[in-house]
Formats: sequence, C-alpha cells, structure tokens
Amino acid sequence: MPATYDYDLFVIGGGSGGVRASRVAAAHGARVALAEEYRLGGTCVIRGCVPKKLLVYGAHFAEDLQDARRFGWDVPNCEFNWPTLRDNVLAEVDRLEGIYGGILENNHVEVFDQRATITGANEVTLADGTKIKAATILVATGSWPMVPDVEGAEHGITSNEVFHLDEIPKRAVIAGGGYIANEFAGIFHEFSCKVTLVNRGDTILRGYDEQIRDRLLQISVMKGINFVFNAPFERIDKQQDGSLMIHMTDHEPIEADMLLWAVGRTPNTVGLGLEKVGVELGKNGAILVDEDNQSSVPSIYAIGDVTDRVQLTPVAIREGQAFADTLFGNKPTRVDYHNIPSAVFSHPPIGGVGLTESQARDQLGSYKTYTADFRPMKNVLAGRNERALYKMIVDEGTEQVVGLHMIGPDAPEILQAAAIAVKAGLTKSQFDETIALHPTMSEELVLMR
Ligand code: NDP
Repeated sequence: MPATYDYDLFVIGGGSGGVRASRVAAAHGARVALAEEYRLGGTCVIRGCVPKKLLVYGAHFAEDLQDARRFGWDVPNCEFNWPTLRDNVLAEVDRLEGIYGGILENNHVEVFDQRATITGANEVTLADGTKIKAATILVATGSWPMVPDVEGAEHGITSNEVFHLDEIPKRAVIAGGGYIANEFAGIFHEFSCKVTLVNRGDTILRGYDEQIRDRLLQISVMKGINFVFNAPFERIDKQQDGSLMIHMTDHEPIEADMLLWAVGRTPNTVGLGLEKVGVELGKNGAILVDEDNQSSVPSIYAIGDVTDRVQLTPVAIREGQAFADTLFGNKPTRVDYHNIPSAVFSHPPIGGVGLTESQARDQLGSYKTYTADFRPMKNVLAGRNERALYKMIVDEGTEQVVGLHMIGPDAPEILQAAAIAVKAGLTKSQFDETIALHPTMSEELVLMR
C-alpha cells in the first residue's frame, strides 16, 4: 500500500454488513476505519429485525395468555403496558449497540461518529471537513423506508419511528402488503389496535408461495385484521383532533390514529457523492456491483441493502465477509444466492426456501407438490382454530426437494434447519428416510404424502 493512504479500507456505514467487513478485514491485518452517522448496529439492530422480533414476542403473549386458560391456568385479566415493553426493547437495543462498538474496538477499527461522503476514488470527507485517503472504500449504507409521493404523506410514520410510539394507537392503517406490513399488522392487532392493511395490488407478500400467503390472509381476517386491496393512496388529511383521514382511489376513506408506511426500502445513496466520482447507480439509486461487490470505480465496493440485491441482514453479513476475505484474506469468496431462506414474523409466522409452486411451474419440466395441512395439537387443546400448512415442491426429474414453504407456529425456527437439507439438494425419499420425531409439528416434513 502506498504510504499516501491513511487506511487500507474505509467503510461507510456501521450496520450488520459494514461491521462484519471491517472486523474481518482488520483481523486479516488491514488498517480499517469506519464512519457511522447514526448508531452502530444499523437498521437490523437499531430499528429493524431485533426490536421487531422482540415486539412479536411481546404481542404473542396476548394469545398465549388466552390459551393458558385451556391448559388449566387461572389467568386474571391482564393489562398490557406498552411503555414497559417499549423501554425494555429500546434498552436491549442500546446494549447491542454497545456490543457492536466493542467488536470494532477490539479489532482496532477506528470509528468516526459522523457522516462521510465520497470525494474521490480514494478519498472520503467527514462532516467536520477532515479528508481521509483509503486504498479501498466500502459503501455499506443500507436502505431507507420509502414514503410515496402523496399529498399529506408526512402525517404517516415509518419503521424508523414505530418503535418509539408514546402509545399504541386505537386504529392503525398500514400501507403495503410486504414483510413489514404483515409483521406490524400482527403486532398491533395483538395489542388491541384496530388494524387495516391497505395495499396497491390484489395480494399480500408477492413472491411468497400463493397457498401460504392465502393461509396468512385467511387467518389474519379471522383474527379481525381488515384488508383493503387495489387501493392506491390519494391524500392524507390531518384532522383537528389529531386523527388522520386516509383517502384512496375507488375506496371509502378510512379514519385512523396512525398511518404506517411499509411500502419498501430504497438504497441509501443520496448525497454520498457517488455519481461525482463515476460510480454507476441502477434503479432506485442502488449501487451496481459485480459478483465481487466491486462498483464501476475499481477502488469502491458496496455490500448489503445499498446494492438492492437481497435486502436481508444475513445476506449483507455474508457479502461483508466475502468482501473482506477476498480483498484482505487472500481467500477469494463469492456469496451463493441460491436457496436463501426467509421468514415473515407475522401471526402466525411464515418461513420459505427455494422455488414457490409458480416458480417451479415456470422453471422446471415437471414438478410435484406435497402438503401437510394440520391443526397443531397445542391449537387443538387451546380451541384455536388456526391450521398450519407445510408445502414441499419436488423436481419430478431428479426427485430433489427444490422448495419448502411453511406457515404455522415456529415456522421460521423449523425452516432454518430444513433449509440445510434443501440447500444440500436432498431428495424427497431422503426426507422420508428420516424417522419422525413425535409428537412435533416438524415431523410433518418427513411424513408428507
Ligand atoms: P416489501 O418489499 O416487502 O413490500 C412492499 C409492499 O409495498 C408491497 O406490498 C408493494 O406492493 C407495496 N408498494 C411498493 N411500492 C409502493 C408504492 N409506491 N405505493 C404503495 N404501495 C407500494 O417492503 P417492506 O417495506 O415490507 O420491507 C422492506 C424490505 O425489508 C423487505 O423487502 C425485506 O427484504 C426486508 N425485511 C425483511 C424482514 C424479514 O426478513 N422478516 C422483515 C422486514 C423487512 P406490490 O406487491 O404491488 O409491489
């Protein structure tokens, strides 16, 4: 490295991907610095996966407490206290942020608590004006919630604000039909909020297996969540009492106390200086990179949501690891994007890996599906009329299991283990050779007919 560089690697963004890349590059012996303008941990830790999952746990007690009575527990009428849950969750987020800081410190990564912009192929400038030269720059700035260009859109909130509410609204409209919309529809509903999910299209969770998402829709409606489809937003009015009147095309307006925008996330590239140094951007401002995460400017790389490939934390972490191993560890590594498992922490949750049935129809010569449609025994005793659905897609030619999709209690926990078998290319008969573990829900995976 020529002596003119202050660092071998300068990372912009202290989220899951940026922290992994910095730590591993430093462990390989690189001199590394990282700039983070907000809080270490990024979206996942600070205002995404982690606090969301804790709210999902908190919300589930509403049903668990009801079910407990059928299991012999004399449960008095319990009151839910939102500030207690909120503050405990936020305290846990603070703890994790500290751990992220510790990881960087222990690996001798220098952290700058300020915004950095790119001012040259090998130069970044910090908010305080300091200019830093680095042999390689890695952009790991993540993504930002999209707010549509609709009159009054500013009266809504996004997932950035939702963890800090003063109180749980009585009536909420959630815009969008994807991950965040369905997860928060479940959370708010369990907290006794009247939830209406409004989507521009005619379905929820586009990209998930049709039967699985239909099951979620059916259970959600049964629980009392309202759905409005094919309803683009027209205008949001704030009323004198602070409530909102939400107007949609071809639909009656809906009055609500909170509007949550959950209509996708846009790569965080605005104002970073990328275009000025010649970094090519794609749709939505995503940084275009090759298989080794390299942008059109050879010294500038990007990983995670900012590249808009797969917006999932574990993918960003893998990309950060591969980047650092390739550039600084003499170990060329590329991320394998096939068979990435994913989950929606709705009530009940969904897990999926591999091809959906419609993808199998398009991509395979012939395929077979197997399903297990059952009421988990805990639900039976609880008198809860919610059925789980597991679905397996098998390539008829090779007999390989090419897709596995599930909705039901603990589906993501079960799916993670089963995804190993799908990733390993196991066949339906290899699943069946495994003796069932009885009585479990997951035994259905080896008993499908
Ligand atoms: P999603 O991409 O999951 O869903 C976006 C939804 O908003 C879709 O229903 C889409 O409709 C709709 N939409 C898109 N643009 C507009 C618009 N201009 N006006 C109205 N509606 C619109 O986004 P989320 O915001 O829910 O989540 C962002 C990403 O974060 C996810 O894609 C996922 O990768 C990640 N995430 C992952 C989680 C997990 O792993 N459990 C949890 C939360 C987030 P249509 O279907 O018609 O396109």
